[in-house]
Amino acid sequence: MNTTAVIAVTAIITTAICMIAVLVWDRYHRQSKSERMMNVINQVRHERFESQAILAALDLGIIAYGSDDHLLTANNKARTMLYEIPEAFQEFCQIYGEENGIRASILLGNEYVTGVYVSGDRSFRITIQRQKLAGESSRYYGHIVMVQDITAIENQERRRKEFVANVSHELKTPLTTIKSWSESLLDWGVDEKDAAGIKADIQRIYDDSLRMEQLVSDLLLLSSIDSQGVQVDIQHIVLDRVARSVTERLLPQAEERKQHLSFTRLGKLPLIYGDRVALERILSNLITNAIKYTQQGGKISVYANSLFDEVYVKVIDNGEGIKSEYHEEIFSRFFRLDTTGSRLFGGTGLGLSIVRELTNLHRGRIELKSEIGEGCEFIVFFPSLAKVRRDVLIDLAGHNVIDDACGKAAEQDIRSFLKIKDDREWPQHLTLQEVELILDKMSGVEQNN
Ligand code: ADP
Repeated sequence: MNTTAVIAVTAIITTAICMIAVLVWDRYHRQSKSERMMNVINQVRHERFESQAILAALDLGIIAYGSDDHLLTANNKARTMLYEIPEAFQEFCQIYGEENGIRASILLGNEYVTGVYVSGDRSFRITIQRQKLAGESSRYYGHIVMVQDITAIENQERRRKEFVANVSHELKTPLTTIKSWSESLLDWGVDEKDAAGIKADIQRIYDDSLRMEQLVSDLLLLSSIDSQGVQVDIQHIVLDRVARSVTERLLPQAEERKQHLSFTRLGKLPLIYGDRVALERILSNLITNAIKYTQQGGKISVYANSLFDEVYVKVIDNGEGIKSEYHEEIFSRFFRLDTTGSRLFGGTGLGLSIVRELTNLHRGRIELKSEIGEGCEFIVFFPSLAKVRRDVLIDLAGHNVIDDACGKAAEQDIRSFLKIKDDREWPQHLTLQEVELILDKMSGVEQNN
């Protein structure tokens, strides 16, 4: 091969190698470019998913309208709260902002507008903010709408106002009587009335001061329950003994009204977790009500029994009874049925709400069966020791925190029985059979003690 041929072959081979290198490089470059693009797309997609997840998790409805006033996005919360979300911002303002002034305010060019929209029995706070949606440097403005369900807050505020008005009214009534009777005594009564007349006036003043004292002590008790500051001493309680002793203590009150008051235990009752003073308060409120609101010569029967894993006390009277439409309301604070003449008996309308709160504190519940003319049957149910322990064991095995007094007492019993000092020693994933086995062993040991 001559030199020219060698040069030509070399040139061809070099060109071929160069072309292959360029092709490989180009392919590599394109691949890495598309990889980079894919990465950017994935990142954008990821960020979009993230922001959608954040929007979906918010307990606030969020709607965004773009600079062309068309709907950009709305989270699920907004869709569940509002009946419809229009495509155009103007239409949104027409539907949700006509009566509360939002629309007018937006038309006036305000950048931050808020108002309440009422739909049926629910209220929503709607806040609209004019905002640059494409960053600070953008010239285009859109609108962000925030929707918050404020029904619960409004109800709470209304109840608070009613409560303050009720307390003021209830305190004012006896205070006015005390003031007017003492004024008339000071003005002329002491000089002109005889001893019996003066004593009667002082008695009225005394009775009203007792009523005020009762009201204040009921309010203090309710407020300490509300703030979870009520002091309870939870013990193992034989409920029928408590019911019997409360009934016996109230016998003189029933005899005064010539009523027949009796207590009967219908079966053997398992123990419950309870605070003796609170349980006495529950039962004495129910029995006192039965005495107050049953006619002279009436009959009041108190029964104690158990059903499955609950213990209950029933207070039955043959008084006037309560219409079913009031069965829920009579447990509300300050609710009184005028027909029963509660005021005459010095009632505060707080007794049954205290009964319900104290019963809840024992993981119990209260039921009322009554119709007008058929008397009343109030039944308070409390879970047995074994039921509370079973529920607590299941909760603890599921790493739930026990935060009520009865639950804590049961937790304490279980801890000392299983000799658990450290939380890490708690048995994991207890089966129901294992729970029952622990409960059986616990009650076996307690019966032998
Ligand atoms: P009060 O201090 O007025 O007795 P409660 O909260 O104990 O307040 O009771 C609320 C209302 O329920 C009472 O005012 C009364 O009208 C009615 N009530 C309660 N117990 C009975 C009952 N056994 N029979 C008829 N009405 C009752």
